[in-house]
Amino acid sequence: MKSASILISTVILILGLSSCEKGGPLGDDQASLSQSLAAIKTTVQSLPTETLEVEEKERILFIREEEKLAYDVYQAMFDKYGVNVFQNISNSELSHMEAMLLLITKYNLEDPMDKNPRGVFADADLQALYNQLVSQGNVSLLAAYQVGAKIEELDIHDLNLSLAVSNNQDIKVVYDFLNKGSRNHLRSFYKNLVKVGGTYTPVFITQTEFDAIVNTPTEKM
Ligand code: MN
Ligand code: MN
Repeated sequence: MKSASILISTVILILGLSSCEKGGPLGDDQASLSQSLAAIKTTVQSLPTETLEVEEKERILFIREEEKLAYDVYQAMFDKYGVNVFQNISNSELSHMEAMLLLITKYNLEDPMDKNPRGVFADADLQALYNQLVSQGNVSLLAAYQVGAKIEELDIHDLNLSLAVSNNQDIKVVYDFLNKGSRNHLRSFYKNLVKVGGTYTPVFITQTEFDAIVNTPTEKM
């Protein structure tokens, strides 16, 4: 009887702690997400519309869909495992997709996402990657966390590439926002995969870059 009530209070304590953690510090609760997105929107609109190089344009369209890839995979993993981290990070990816849409609208580009439903991509490489990552993540919860880490280090790699070919201030603001989100997501997935006894070796960024991210605290959005 006594141990049952200790167990119950422990469960309540854990639930309480995890719901606290979901809010403020991670910056992935709904209120702080809409706040950050509103701030990005104001900034993007107030900065000048500069010349858009072909490469800048291509990167915007690609990153817009790559953010959808993250969103779609995490939704699939949430459906499969019902673990909150996938829903929380999905919400953040939605704000990243919205931020990319701000640039698409501002520069009058054609949105590659169009009305594509979950799991459908205009870019053939992203389509193949989506299929591969979902089947990989379906193996186990650990595999799903590893898929999360892989998506985030890929995003960091691709955002850094995109930053290198972009000189428009508004574009840089958006990429910095997405990059910070990805670093936080990488920290989150890594922490979760270690907790279930897993390990992770980065494939898109160097081990040094990876360590520098996962060994530093969550950044405020
Ligand atoms: Mn993202
Ligand atoms: Mn992410």
